[in-house]
Amino acid sequence: EVFSDHTEYQHTVTRMNQLEVEVHRDALTGLFNRAYLEKQLVSSINDFEYFNIPFGLLFLDIDHFKNVNDTYGHATGDEVLKMLSHTLKHNLRDSDIVARWGGEEFVVLIKNVDKYILVSIAEKLRNLIEKSMIKVEDKFLSVTVSIGATLYRAGETDQSILSRADQALYNSKRTGRNKLTADFAD
Ligand code: GH3
Ligand code: MG
Ligand code: MG
Repeated sequence: EVFSDHTEYQHTVTRMNQLEVEVHRDALTGLFNRAYLEKQLVSSINDFEYFNIPFGLLFLDIDHFKNVNDTYGHATGDEVLKMLSHTLKHNLRDSDIVARWGGEEFVVLIKNVDKYILVSIAEKLRNLIEKSMIKVEDKFLSVTVSIGATLYRAGETDQSILSRADQALYNSKRTGRNKLTADFAD
């Protein structure tokens, strides 16, 4: 009886650990989800205040993604989201947080960067995404992304850095797409 109780307990612990992982993940892509990114953002702000560790955000949005769905169907759209997620995950450091922010929007939190490194990471990702493709029947399909980049500024809130990154992304959209807009204080 003692044994079977213990087994039951172990199963519960294992299941709880699984759930704890799942609650931070996006089911389709396996990336972190928005809630987890938001938590990490608050903790990165604390690290900045206490230890002076700088960090930046990239906001990415797929260009004309509605066309992909309309032309190839939603299932192919999902495959594109998975491919893009794979590209992001496998070309960043383990310490970087890559999250699916919403439908076809992604946020990357990068610690210990300056503006030059942040721009080079963003341009690298933009280039890699542009060159990645999936095969649909006998054709190759690829997408591009528009990106907004910015660094955390002392004293500001999580909402403030997020909205600056989003605004920079919007500028990339407005001025032609498949490009990076960086917003730095100097
Ligand atoms: P823009 O360049 O201005 O960003 O154009 P867009 O077409 O990408 O932007 P819009 O916001 O008009 O459309 C986003 C599309 O993303 C609409 C929606 O159907 C699609 N989408 C959102 N989530 C998913 C998803 O999980 N799977 C698929 N296949 N499509 C999705
Ligand atoms: Mg969008
Ligand atoms: Mg879009």
